[in-house]
Amino acid sequence: MKPMAILYDFDRCMGCRACQIICKMWNQNAAGKPSSFFQGPGYQNPGTLNDNTFSVVRYEEFVDPKTGELRYYFGRTQCMSCLKPACVSACIVGAIEKLEHGPVVWHGEKCMGCRYCMVACPFGIPKFEWNSNNPRIRKCTFCANRQGSTYAEVGAKFEGYSDEQRARLDEDGRLQLAPACATACPSDTMVYGTREAMLAEAYARIDAAPDAYPKHPRTGKPWVYGEHEVGGTSWLLLSTIPYDKLGLPVLSFEPADHYTKISMISVPITFTAMAIAMGGAYYLTKRRGEVKASESKSEKSEAKKGGES
Ligand code: SF4
Ligand code: SF4
Ligand code: SF4
Repeated sequence: MKPMAILYDFDRCMGCRACQIICKMWNQNAAGKPSSFFQGPGYQNPGTLNDNTFSVVRYEEFVDPKTGELRYYFGRTQCMSCLKPACVSACIVGAIEKLEHGPVVWHGEKCMGCRYCMVACPFGIPKFEWNSNNPRIRKCTFCANRQGSTYAEVGAKFEGYSDEQRARLDEDGRLQLAPACATACPSDTMVYGTREAMLAEAYARIDAAPDAYPKHPRTGKPWVYGEHEVGGTSWLLLSTIPYDKLGLPVLSFEPADHYTKISMISVPITFTAMAIAMGGAYYLTKRRGEVKASESKSEKSEAKKGGES
């Protein structure tokens, strides 16, 4: 299966939040308690992602640098499903995995809650189950259980689906459904297809109105956000509003996993050194206890002998 992508066009989003709701439904995430409305950038509730909310549609206002007028936009936040994910290279137990066709999935049963992936992610996506006794990391998986999964793997979710939907299994018996959010969007803000086709579509839109779209500050070339950022992502973002006004960081084209791998090399050494140090400390403490107990026993014995004589 070829690498897949979603093209998200900020100029088309009308903020209906159908994508946010269907994301909750598909992932069986509860609605959650209302939080403070003014809790961060933008005016939306919940304010940002959490362990129970894998995608959020933001509403933000900004001053247009061209006209000086106050404008607003709706924008979506979710895992970008990086092609070279820093979160994967940061995870020392293999709890996060990159699939060939795009999704970056997490395996809750392997997660030991170290939160290295949270630190490594350049987009601040993975969230921790702070209120759980057995906390794990959770995030959007690019609906891996819709695209490219076997019916046997996710069949239970498809009971009640139409014959037409079941007929969309490919020759390997895999479901080829678009991510839930992309199917719900009534304005074609999100289009799903091969990454190659989505890039071609993005550049076709830029070619139709070249002066309307921002250029990359370093290359000076037309800019599809996610084409090259941190080695490329499975979400390709397009906007006539400068990306920095949309809260998107200007990132290196260098894959972030490169740096994560280097820094993670020291983790096993650190763990080993810590284990040796802790073992040493345990031995010394235990030994001191044994010596003290032995001394105390001898003193008692001596005292007993003295009393008898
Ligand atoms: S956006 Fe963050 S969590 Fe998602 S794949 Fe990239 S590094 Fe991992
Ligand atoms: S791809 Fe799936 S999990 Fe990710 S935001 Fe869309 S609906 Fe949610
Ligand atoms: S469903 Fe489409 S139009 Fe509605 S908020 Fe999501 S991306 Fe925007």
